[in-house]
Amino acid sequence: MASFKDLKKIYSIMKDVNIKDILKFIEKNPKLLKQFSKQKEPELNLNSDFYNIFHNLSPEDNTIRLKVRNFMDTEVKPIINDYWYKDEFPHDLIPLLKDLDICGLAYKGYGCQNKSTLLDGIVSAELARIDPSLSTFMGVHSGLAMGSIYLCGSEEQKEYWLPKMREMQIIGSFGLTEPLVGSAVAGGLTTTCKKNNDGTWTLNGQKKWIGNSTFSDITIIWARDIDTSDVKGFIVEASNEGFNVEKIEGKVSLKIVQNGLITLDNCIIDEKDRLQNANSFKDTAKVLKMTRAGVAWQSVGLSMGAYETTVKYCNERKQFGKTIDSFQLTQSALANMLGDLTAMQNMVYQLSLLQDRNEMSDEQASLAKVWISKGMRRIVSTGRELFGGNGILLEYDIAKYMADAEALYSYEGTAQINELIVGRSITGKQAFV
Ligand SMILES: Cc1cc2nc3c(=O)[nH]c(=O)nc-3n(C[C@H](O)[C@H](O)[C@H](O)COP(=O)(O)OP(=O)(O)OC[C@H]3O[C@@H](n4cnc5c(N)ncnc54)[C@H](O)[C@@H]3O)c2cc1C
Repeated sequence: MASFKDLKKIYSIMKDVNIKDILKFIEKNPKLLKQFSKQKEPELNLNSDFYNIFHNLSPEDNTIRLKVRNFMDTEVKPIINDYWYKDEFPHDLIPLLKDLDICGLAYKGYGCQNKSTLLDGIVSAELARIDPSLSTFMGVHSGLAMGSIYLCGSEEQKEYWLPKMREMQIIGSFGLTEPLVGSAVAGGLTTTCKKNNDGTWTLNGQKKWIGNSTFSDITIIWARDIDTSDVKGFIVEASNEGFNVEKIEGKVSLKIVQNGLITLDNCIIDEKDRLQNANSFKDTAKVLKMTRAGVAWQSVGLSMGAYETTVKYCNERKQFGKTIDSFQLTQSALANMLGDLTAMQNMVYQLSLLQDRNEMSDEQASLAKVWISKGMRRIVSTGRELFGGNGILLEYDIAKYMADAEALYSYEGTAQINELIVGRSITGKQAFV
């Protein structure tokens, strides 16, 4: 079927044909006119959920997801790059985040909603789709900090802290990593705790990279007991004497997240603030296992945002007289981005189903974290390439996605550490040291 453009060309060379004859011909063939009017402009498909993963949510859960998406699109997207540029946290958004009611979504009791970890993960993805920093802020508060109390606290501790944290009256952070001990935290923590004669505990040491800690009300501090060598967890309030936080400056990734270097200098903590069910690093690991799928979902969300931004840009940017999405090489790059993204979504979706059935193993969580965060890196790198020079400007968003991806790639277990966990399950051989 010839297009209007083709007809125009034909008409321009039909010098001796009378236009009236053409019009008469069209009048006699009304079907022809209908066919022309049916021809549509090419439609852009911005859908980054290509295999309809979100269709698996119940209508009620999907409403929660859409509420978060709408909030991120309308309240966060227009203002967030400015905060990123200035390394500032948007404190004014906390009451709005509170209204979304998404803290402790998957926990049972203590005012929490007892939703699936699948929905919890999808909500993290929706946050990261627009801003990976806000998603990380929530991951630390709702996942790591609330999760430590939920999994390792006594009933009394849970009753006291979790409702306030769910309401965001209290903001939490999670202090495990140290300046000299990152990947090796399982056996190498140097921060110490010692039980005093009056039943209190004295904490000494340093914690590095602790997200939210510059303004959080409490930090979960993990420390090794000098007397027993066991790892214990403590709920340390920011007002505690001997607890000091210095903001880590000069980050080029997740710049909105306020990471702190914490110094504990003879910090005295009551026994009532020791996590009563944290008796060894195995308990710390339970918290990390629970949140690892959340980091995989964050990587998926970041990749969805990067993909959508790229598709839109390629549809608007013109070179050689055509939008760059008309070129075969661009379409190949977009198809590869979507292929990676779709595989990542399906992998983490199945991981969440396993987690919701209580069947998820450490190695399954690790494989998803490492494989999905590698896919995310491929997606942002291809996206950035398709933006040309504009790909390094903050206003085009892709540079922010690319920079933020680097922190997600490294935190909560580097690629190598997660590969070693998977490798151990394949070979039966532990190869960490
Ligand atoms: C933005 C950001 C936010 C963070 N937020 C928090 C937080 O809120 N709370 C918290 O406790 N921590 C936090 N972290 C810390 C994070 O979890 C650590 O950075 C991470 O675990 C890696 O530790 P490391 O940086 O010390 O790297 P290192 O452990 O020093 O690793 C350096 C390199 O060596 C490799 N490596 C190490 N051991 C082995 C081995 N056995 N075999 C092969 N390779 C190996 C690693 O894979 C990596 O490539 C955050 C980090 C970042 C960047």
